Amino acid sequence: MSDLITQLIRAERLLLETTLQSCSPFEGRDRARVLHADVLMETTKAIPKEPADGAAFPVEYQRLALSAETLQAIDQAFAGGSTFRDKPVTAEHICQAREFVQHHYGFDVSTVPVKLSQVPQTESVEGFFMSCGIAEGAVFLPSVFCSPVELIVHELGHAMHTTIRRQQRPTDYRFWIDWNSIGPEMCAYHAQFSYLIKHGTKEQFYVALGALLTSVSQLLCLLTLSAKLSKEEFQEYAPVQAYQNTVAWKALLDMYGGMHPTHPNSKQNIAVAVSGFTRGIGLALALKLIGEPQGLVAFMKEDTVAKPILLKLNEAFPHHKDLGYLDDINEVISQISARMLA
Ligand SMILES: [Zn+2]
Repeated sequence: MSDLITQLIRAERLLLETTLQSCSPFEGRDRARVLHADVLMETTKAIPKEPADGAAFPVEYQRLALSAETLQAIDQAFAGGSTFRDKPVTAEHICQAREFVQHHYGFDVSTVPVKLSQVPQTESVEGFFMSCGIAEGAVFLPSVFCSPVELIVHELGHAMHTTIRRQQRPTDYRFWIDWNSIGPEMCAYHAQFSYLIKHGTKEQFYVALGALLTSVSQLLCLLTLSAKLSKEEFQEYAPVQAYQNTVAWKALLDMYGGMHPTHPNSKQNIAVAVSGFTRGIGLALALKLIGEPQGLVAFMKEDTVAKPILLKLNEAFPHHKDLGYLDDINEVISQISARMLA
């Protein structure tokens, strides 16, 4: 095993142990990072900047946009409200999620620990997966959530992605890290949406697409800011008609305000938006690849930061000729929606 991988595992183990021991892991994640700052710094410095090719994606992905029809459907799903009632997360939910992943991808996640924690009611949090070595990572979840199995399946998707690629290349650090969220989120959302198509409702599907709406709005703000448009010009430029009368319109304006150079947290908010946008690309690609679990596993095996995303997708899905663009996302969404229960 290379020195760098030994170092990575050491840092991951320290973080995971500290987080597992913490009584508030959702806040403790940052505390764990502060506690082990020296080890993390040492590890980060040791990771070569090259190859960084895995960070590149087709410029066409910047045309990711939602149609008025999709926006209205997301808005209506959020207005429906029935999806949002919190329920306690149970052992049965965890079992169902593990069975789904095992059955759909043929990959055993029965030994991935799932830890439940109380989260302050004021916070709306989802879960997270903390990677560690090849197969020592753990899933952290709030003890109550509106759609428990769906959430667990998403996090187990991250666990599966990490384990499969690291198992395949245990000595090559390029299979152990990521430069952005496209690959990891594509795998996690693929699992989540595959689950929803089988066991969820249309309303749950559109609520889950709220994450895509956030990413698309972040992209819109980034493009507008890079074009140096004023707030008035932005309102003209933004697809007002598509967003009209949706809750998303106000959220979009707030987001833009937070990223504008005049805002004190502008830099931080822009960094969040860049990462949010790559998450959205992963989500959109997952939707295009629904129904192809084995292709996804093939992708995970070869997911290295040494190659750009499109090259890896073309290798894992050689018959797909449409993975270099996301303009067709609204058609993909309505096709999936038509297959789902009302
Ligand atoms: Zn995720």
